[in-house]
Amino acid sequence: MPEHSLLDEALVRLDEAAAHLNIDPDVIEKLKYARETTKVRLMIRMDDGSRKSFLAWRCRYDDTRGPTKGGIRFHPESTADEVETLAFWMTFKCAVMNLPYGGGKGAVQVDPRTLSKAELERLSRAYIQAFARIIGPDRDIPAPDVYTNSMIMGWMADEYAQIVGQHEPAMITGKPIALGGSLGRGDATARGGYYLVKHLAGDLKLGETMRVAIQGFGNAGQHIARLLAADGHKIVAVSDSQGAVFSAAGLHIDLLTHAKSIGMPVASTAGNGGHERLEADELVGIECDLLVPAALENMIHENNAAMVKASLVLELANGPITPPADEILEANGTVVLPDILANAGGVTVSYLEWVQNRQGFYWPVEDIHQRLQTMMESEGRAVWEVGREKGVTLRTAAYVHALGRLAEAIEAHGTQSFFTS
Ligand code: NAD
Repeated sequence: MPEHSLLDEALVRLDEAAAHLNIDPDVIEKLKYARETTKVRLMIRMDDGSRKSFLAWRCRYDDTRGPTKGGIRFHPESTADEVETLAFWMTFKCAVMNLPYGGGKGAVQVDPRTLSKAELERLSRAYIQAFARIIGPDRDIPAPDVYTNSMIMGWMADEYAQIVGQHEPAMITGKPIALGGSLGRGDATARGGYYLVKHLAGDLKLGETMRVAIQGFGNAGQHIARLLAADGHKIVAVSDSQGAVFSAAGLHIDLLTHAKSIGMPVASTAGNGGHERLEADELVGIECDLLVPAALENMIHENNAAMVKASLVLELANGPITPPADEILEANGTVVLPDILANAGGVTVSYLEWVQNRQGFYWPVEDIHQRLQTMMESEGRAVWEVGREKGVTLRTAAYVHALGRLAEAIEAHGTQSFFTS
């Protein structure tokens, strides 16, 4: 592990939040380390008859508040440190939203684009064979993450059912609707962020028509574009890994989503409908009111944070702003709606999927939207109030809000003063 790990950086948030609460040292001791990180080598048969092995992990960071919950990522650069950091963030995200879960995460170190469909299925099933004893509906519940999708969740649920000898759809979320998935899960991350922005619009003094720039045009990016454009906001720039497009008059979302649906980059729409081509890294500095990072970690860093013109940033991606960049944005008066709150719509609807699976009764999409909106608004309001009362950024406020709940649960088992008095 490098001298300064990603987890060490993430743990700075724990210390910052703890400074605002009167919590027992037991709480910090418990949350400073992952409870359990299992590393395995998955062996699969490739289509050419050879055997190949892939490193894989599952981390259950903390389960004081309930079974651990967190996605499985298939990425060539995944590491144990990254998995533990993402699981730490999930611990806090679930606590921010008051979901009855702890935090977990998993990964396979693989570039899934190099696998055939049959190899991908074998790898997904091998993951469950390796971790079946760790996961389960009351123990650890995976979900999709970067480069995994609902079909992979369906294979994993099927493999688990074969191992335990019965259907257990609540062992994983983000499944296809036909296999026990929830309506409304597809756009849940973006929709949660959208409800949050709408709810805080008055407090944040947002204009009726905002100019919006979106970094990353995958699941989260496309859905937030559609939701905000439908409310009359102007999507002035979007990017993906291969480039960006801009239009001061507002981009045509249909042109962009059509391009992505046929596997073309957003820049392929340049020249149509007034779309102008930009480089992907120009997006961060675009003249706009709202910037939505919806791509990967660490995209806004100390070398480009000063370029940000937006007065509000909605972090749909996990960890898109590095700690030094955060300080630059704060000094420049940019408000950040932090990832553990802003993108929590995804895990919130995953929770609703788990509840529906366990009760065997499925709700219409309107009910899902209503429940998501109520939860985003009440937790968003609570974070806003903590920020106002303590005079801290919304990121610190979100960590304080979550840590308060985690501390209450950990302290309920007794603290040093209880055992020595
Ligand atoms: P996705 O794979 O569907 O989309 C990612 C997008 O980012 C793609 O359009 C890709 O081209 C783009 N991208 C990659 N590198 C880029 C670069 N250098 N510049 C600009 N764009 C770049 O993934 P997603 O599901 O939309 O997730 C995006 C982020 O949101 C991730 O950080 C993920 O962890 C987070 N998130 C997603 C969910 C969910 O439910 N989908 C939930 C919580 C958090």
